[in-house]
Amino acid sequence: MRWENLTEESEHGRAADAALFGADAVTTRTFDTPEFRGITFHEVRARSVLNRVPGASRMPFEWTVNPYRGCTHACVYCFARKTHSYLDLDTGVGFDTQIVVKVNAPDVLRRQLGSRRWQGDHVAMGTNVDCYQRAEGRYRLMPGIISALTEHANPFSILTKGTLILRDLELLVRASEVTDVGISVSVGFLDTGLWRTVEPGTPAPERRLDVVRTLGEHGIGCGVLMAPVIPFLSDDPAQLRATVRAIAAAGATSVTPLALHLRPGAREWFMAWLAQHHPHLVRRYERLYAEGAYAPKWYQRRITRQVHELAQEYGIGPARAGLARRIRPAEPAQAPAGPEPVQLSLL
Ligand code: SF4
Repeated sequence: MRWENLTEESEHGRAADAALFGADAVTTRTFDTPEFRGITFHEVRARSVLNRVPGASRMPFEWTVNPYRGCTHACVYCFARKTHSYLDLDTGVGFDTQIVVKVNAPDVLRRQLGSRRWQGDHVAMGTNVDCYQRAEGRYRLMPGIISALTEHANPFSILTKGTLILRDLELLVRASEVTDVGISVSVGFLDTGLWRTVEPGTPAPERRLDVVRTLGEHGIGCGVLMAPVIPFLSDDPAQLRATVRAIAAAGATSVTPLALHLRPGAREWFMAWLAQHHPHLVRRYERLYAEGAYAPKWYQRRITRQVHELAQEYGIGPARAGLARRIRPAEPAQAPAGPEPVQLSLL
């Protein structure tokens, strides 16, 4: 593994000079419990955890914190798979089972937030891999991270598929009393059969909607990133309607649809899955994604329009592209999302 390549910039696909970890800082562990069987954890001590998003990125935030790399949620379509190749790790099963853990992330973050050079910018989490994946149940890094951000009244957002976020509910409520906290949960569809095969390590969509509901009950408005909408598998009008209706019933403050995109690293893995589970769709996908990683604009626009119409029908506030913000009662409705995709890992 090329630990010397674990640089701040390389998390976003760019080469950089300064190494983030030394090879001697790696400890490898396995746990013989059912939930972690077959998974290897690589514990590293990070020198920096605040990552600056490259200027050319289309992401709607500038700073991220990612305490983990690799994700046991194992979504077949996850575009973050590519980032595992920077470590000489496999982007298929390796991404799902070889998890890098920055064990000192809370301490390093606290130090960085206290630096005179830090300007107090918004910090986004869950943008590369899920910070509430199963490993978080054991390593418990997020409580320290949230506490550090709260101590500095530093605005932040979290995007997740993990119900584990409710463990930190009190901390999130406390943080929201001193700074802006934005939580988004990713729910692309409700279909149980599809969920079991394409997002095999994630909590069920209904459980994720329970997270939305519970956060709302505790005064933390929660948006839903309806991602990915999977062409020919979760995009027919009845499926879109059922999903948006359930999102509305959970009390989401916004819904932002995002059609599946297939970047290198994820594309091969997804197409192999498609050939195994839905072989009759392979040719249609090759045609739909013939131009590259994104579905054609007409397709993206159609999905966006349909979801926004349904959101209006079910009374969900329209969403702004990117992470949903914490909604205060007096805030005006936000502008609707455009068809331009946001480059998240489709959490
Ligand atoms: S899409 Fe998100 S939850 Fe799924 S594997 Fe990737 S990082 Fe994990």
